[in-house]
Amino acid sequence: MIDCGLDWLGKFEQLHPNAIVLTHAHPDHAWGLQNGAPCPVHAPEKTWQTLKQCQIDDRHLINERTPTVICGITFEALPVEHSVRAPAVGYRISAGRARFFYGPDLLYIHDRAAALKGVQVYIGDGATLTRSFVRKRGDALIGHATVRTQLGWCAKEGVPRAIITHCGSEIVNGDERLLRAQLGAIADERGVEAQIAYDGMKLTLP
Ligand SMILES: [Zn+2]
Ligand SMILES: [Zn+2]
Repeated sequence: MIDCGLDWLGKFEQLHPNAIVLTHAHPDHAWGLQNGAPCPVHAPEKTWQTLKQCQIDDRHLINERTPTVICGITFEALPVEHSVRAPAVGYRISAGRARFFYGPDLLYIHDRAAALKGVQVYIGDGATLTRSFVRKRGDALIGHATVRTQLGWCAKEGVPRAIITHCGSEIVNGDERLLRAQLGAIADERGVEAQIAYDGMKLTLP
């Protein structure tokens, strides 16, 4: 299971996860673990430092840029720009020949080429389709890349398919047909196949 937001508090146990891997310490990604977890939890050092309010006993460290095997699946954490207070990573994930990238909250990926090389599916940040969502904090930039920008990354790095998840109000409250047309147009321009994720979605990778 990747991330465990506050809306999963008291509920995620029913999924019986073998392990949980965290991208960052924001409430919508980690605060479902406030009462602990019945399984090992894996996260980068910066996430453990910023995740104070959770009583997790079985903590495991993921070193950034180091492939780490968890339950037979290889996770490589790549730092992404997103928040100063809750530094985030995206994961390059592989099992057998299947390889995908998961980055639910990101403004940019520091080493994008390394993150996306040979990736079959990019699973990215649905905070905003085309409206800018960038703020300045001191010298740092925080926020979210638009879907348009992320599909541009996919095109540049040769990733054929993108799935948009963790959607913001623009997508959640938007008209589905209109959104599909908008997303389709952006994706077609970049030669990428794109779709918006839905609850319970399953994906089979060749
Ligand atoms: Zn976040
Ligand atoms: Zn988030």
